[in-house]
Amino acid sequence: AASVPADGRDAKHRVLKDVFGFDDFRPGQAAVMEALLAGRHVLAVMPTGAGKSLCYQVPALVLGGLTIVVSPLVALMQDQVAALRLAGVAADTINSSLDRNANVAAWRRVASGQTRLLYLAPERLMTERMLDALARLDVRLIAVDEAHCISQWGPAFRREYEDLSRLGGIFPDVPVIALTATADEGTRADIEARLFAGRVETLVLGFDRPNIKLAIEAKQDSKRQLLRFVERHPGRSGIVYCLSRRKTEEMAAFLEKNGVTALAYHAGMSKEAREANQNAFMTLSGVVMVATIAFGMGIDKPDVAYVFHTDLPGSLEAYYQEIGRAGRDGRAAEAHMLFGLGDIRTRRMFIDDEDAAPEHKRRSHGRLDTLIGYCETAQCRRQVLLGYFGEQAEPCGNCDNCLEQVPRADGSAEARLILAAVAQSGERFGAAHVIDILLGHETEKVLARSHQRLASFGTGMAHKRPAWLSLIRQLVAGGFLMPDPAGHGGLAIADSGHALGRGEGSFEYRVETRHRSMRGKAR
Ligand code: ADP
Ligand code: ZN
Repeated sequence: AASVPADGRDAKHRVLKDVFGFDDFRPGQAAVMEALLAGRHVLAVMPTGAGKSLCYQVPALVLGGLTIVVSPLVALMQDQVAALRLAGVAADTINSSLDRNANVAAWRRVASGQTRLLYLAPERLMTERMLDALARLDVRLIAVDEAHCISQWGPAFRREYEDLSRLGGIFPDVPVIALTATADEGTRADIEARLFAGRVETLVLGFDRPNIKLAIEAKQDSKRQLLRFVERHPGRSGIVYCLSRRKTEEMAAFLEKNGVTALAYHAGMSKEAREANQNAFMTLSGVVMVATIAFGMGIDKPDVAYVFHTDLPGSLEAYYQEIGRAGRDGRAAEAHMLFGLGDIRTRRMFIDDEDAAPEHKRRSHGRLDTLIGYCETAQCRRQVLLGYFGEQAEPCGNCDNCLEQVPRADGSAEARLILAAVAQSGERFGAAHVIDILLGHETEKVLARSHQRLASFGTGMAHKRPAWLSLIRQLVAGGFLMPDPAGHGGLAIADSGHALGRGEGSFEYRVETRHRSMRGKAR
């Protein structure tokens, strides 16, 4: 089907142009389509708005026959079908909101081979009657939209999605594409296992926002630091995120006092006040919105020049979402964060005080560790950020670590001590315990496991706890150590960590001078 005709465009390019009217594929779309057209299963992880739908709609038309699209919401299905019909594509949906006659008519079109794409909710698809009927038709592709709904870990679990794990057995020769915007590692592993029994090509694409410069600055005097930053962008719109409601008001007032047009926004304000401030931000130019995370959902203002975090966000996913509100017009934009150890303590407390299961708390702490690793890395920040989502990248040349000299030192020897302690204790413990081993602390936990007898015990007395913590976080950020994907908070050694442990390669780390004077609450 993918033969290249004389005009040099292959079949999928022709469909893209002739049916959808687009000249080029977005990053990743072509790779996904090629894998499907070659008959392979694909899990496509792409952020919202990246263009997931075309990833199966174009192959559906190239392949001919029938494509089944599983989608969780009737409204979504109807939108998609309407849009496809406008483009002249024979699309149908059979669902509970249509009357019987409409569903019967749709089925006739499907059965007679007219329909190219059939949208169904999972519970409707997975009835024996529907499956028997479809098995007699020429099904060439199955797309499972919002595939994270199959994961019990995710926030959007749907019991009806669980049954989709039978699809592979029912249509063994039909390529399946699962689509999601959820980049969380555990959810992804769950989709791979449940929907594909592990036999799937996972493609993570389109997360990069190259026009946003990434930078992190040690927090000293956040008001002054914010003002200095804002004054470098005179007349531009920006968003400033603060952790507390009170701080948004204080910061906004401080900016105002210094001649910057600034407004506050948080959930404690009256609805009228919030709407007025949001309107001003959206319609005027050069307004700085100082807000809690209550602000931002659905805000699509193209000319936001920067997102400034005065405090550590909740997770790397949250950070990515929040900075993504800058530079939508494609112009140079900045994501600037202030980072201090106090923020880590606050976030840890939030998690500990949460009314949640221990399992959930451990995962939250693990996610926080990942974010801290991003803050502390000496590597290209974009590489670390995209790497977290599973996307490979070259050093970007547009982050503070790429652009400035960071004080670095060779930490290979220290890294080997850490790796040895992790290995000897069975890759099951978190940073706090590993550091206790290195420091030779006979804690209850150490004694209970007889870890005072490990060769690693007491090998790390040359450094203090915060320095070891920073090293461990940077090993995590650099992909040498992995936070346990099952969420138990333990550290495991990645392939590159094993190589480093064997003496292959080296490990450069960012020297954190501020750790000398601060005692972090280690975990
Ligand atoms: P997602 O499902 O990933 O959130 P959509 O499939 O709804 O995203 O696509 C988002 C928008 O991008 C749509 O308006 C779509 O028409 C547009 N789009 C997708 N692919 C391309 C492309 N190759 N060129 C131009 N626009 C595209
Ligand atoms: Zn970089």
